[in-house]
Amino acid sequence: MERKTPLQWKELFSSKEFEEKYFYDKDDLGAVYKKDSTIFKVWAPTAKGVNINFYLTGSDKEDKAKCLGSFSMEKEDKGIFKYIAKGDMKNIYYTFSVDVEGDIKETADIYAKASGVNGQRSMIVDLLETNPKGWENDKRPIIQNKDKVIYEIHIKDFSSDENSGITPEYQGKYLAFTEKNSTLNNDGKNPTCLKYLKQLGITYVHLLPCFDYGSVDESISSKEQFNWGYDPINYNVPEGSYSTNPFDGNVRIKEFKQMVQSLHEEGIGVIMDVVYNHTYSLNSWFQYTVPYYYYRIDENGRLANGSMCGNDTASERKMFQNYIINSVCYWVNEYHIDGFRFDLMGLHDIDTMNKIREALDKLPNGKDILMYGEPWTAGFSPMENNAVPAVKANVNLLDENIAIFCDNTRDSIKGSVFKSKIAGYVNRNENIKQSKNMKQLTNEIKHSVKAWCDKGANFYPKSPKQIISYVSSHDNYTLWDKLVYTTKNEDFKNPEIFIKRDENIVQINKMVSGIIFTCQGIPFIQAGEEAARTKQGLDNSYNTSSTINQLDWKRAYEFKDLFDYYKKIIQIRKDFSPFGNLDLNTANSITFLPLQKKYLIAFIIEGGNKDDKWSKILVYYNPKNSKQKIELPQGEWNLILGNSEDWEKGYLQEKSVTIFGI
Ligand code: CA
Repeated sequence: MERKTPLQWKELFSSKEFEEKYFYDKDDLGAVYKKDSTIFKVWAPTAKGVNINFYLTGSDKEDKAKCLGSFSMEKEDKGIFKYIAKGDMKNIYYTFSVDVEGDIKETADIYAKASGVNGQRSMIVDLLETNPKGWENDKRPIIQNKDKVIYEIHIKDFSSDENSGITPEYQGKYLAFTEKNSTLNNDGKNPTCLKYLKQLGITYVHLLPCFDYGSVDESISSKEQFNWGYDPINYNVPEGSYSTNPFDGNVRIKEFKQMVQSLHEEGIGVIMDVVYNHTYSLNSWFQYTVPYYYYRIDENGRLANGSMCGNDTASERKMFQNYIINSVCYWVNEYHIDGFRFDLMGLHDIDTMNKIREALDKLPNGKDILMYGEPWTAGFSPMENNAVPAVKANVNLLDENIAIFCDNTRDSIKGSVFKSKIAGYVNRNENIKQSKNMKQLTNEIKHSVKAWCDKGANFYPKSPKQIISYVSSHDNYTLWDKLVYTTKNEDFKNPEIFIKRDENIVQINKMVSGIIFTCQGIPFIQAGEEAARTKQGLDNSYNTSSTINQLDWKRAYEFKDLFDYYKKIIQIRKDFSPFGNLDLNTANSITFLPLQKKYLIAFIIEGGNKDDKWSKILVYYNPKNSKQKIELPQGEWNLILGNSEDWEKGYLQEKSVTIFGI
């Protein structure tokens, strides 16, 4: 029999007739468990037949592995296949065998809520039994705009360092987040992990992928393996390698919830990094269930590669759009998630992003759930049906409560993420030729202060709510390494160059935090940015090792002064709501003062309310290694923070002030 080509599939799926005949919008796909029976439904409109297979274990390599039988599913309307299993099916593993054009693929359930080791078989789960003690009282914390500070962390990196003070069997796991009194090498003095975060004052942890991904073999716990996890296998199942037992499908669910519960108890929200834009490979449950439906195909019949991972998904297809919306809502309802970071959001279409927002808004306190993403792609991806990509240039088409990572702010502060030697405002070295001069960089910083709401570039955020202000994330160099590259001229192959302390760089790093936390928009830092985190000059460490990637807790205390500075500036931001109220009027009302030296920046921000510590704040940035005497505007001023200890004196009587450079 002749099989359809990808282009023929594309033609079929793009037709109005197909959508009208097969679009299914009920939320009962997958396994719906009840004590006396479980109902299974698969959407497989192109299948001739579907069988369901039951197993005792998640893989054949385990003790007691046994197939319990295979049964034919019944075809219903809308391309649905259905099977009802009588009796209590809890903890039984299952797959589907889907026959499309005579090609039979055994696949896990794309709607699976639980799975066995490596996500190869789905599992029937009684979710109530996975709830930790007190889960019914767990609530998403209410975090005011002015208090929003995001901290990006990889679950393993957080605690895999042997100095972390975390119980050895929880190091690198979900449960590390449940230990609230860990200290450096158990010294009882210097907090690590959760207690450290609490002291720093961040209010959200943003977790790198923690849905089930494929690049780490969960069955081998003895071998050192590391990956960031941007390779999805099961979107609605937690990753198994972060659990203490990846074989029993219940354990990862329960431990994930324990992590969320513990963070919530400390008033910290949990944001998931979600990667709906591609799958680990084309050998995916999507492809096995409905070949080529979930993927974008170009006009030559090739899979789109805007993700640079070889298989872009197609958010503009109705059933996949629905899938993403349901998946995001599921994480909120079942795991009490507080926000989502969309990987390569530019590969999704605007309509899908806005519909996700709409669905979240309808949930209890749903408007508080954060949504933001990377407003770019890694390459071209052909969308169908005139769908509009959610890229930076289209930010004004996104709901005001969907934010974008602002690469303009990121690069103007410390330079390009791609060219190691190219610097920005804080580290500009006149000896290195680069396209932007200091005047341009200074102007860009001024736009950054207003979260680019002043029409300073060719993208138009509706308000500071749409801007994530940041300088570093897991991608590219750590801030510390970037500052090493841009301020030194040495043999960068020598790791010591990055590891050793450098007072000049510490000062620049403080300056960077000073800018990020006085900008409008939502501040975001990479874990360890406040602790001179280094990857020894490596810009892409996604599959290297824990040694390179993990937080180095000893180092954090060697740079305690940097941590203290971040802590102070975060507190100042919280004590003065106009910095973070995310209001367009506040951004518009910021006034820059004219100064003689063009590279200096000074601005007044007013509007402190009765709960704020101050009514207005005057901010100076001096990026050069020189002191500058500046006249103060009329009025009485207090010194609250600067690069010199002199700045801690308090009430100021002089009419002028000296601002210290880096
Ligand atoms: Ca996995």
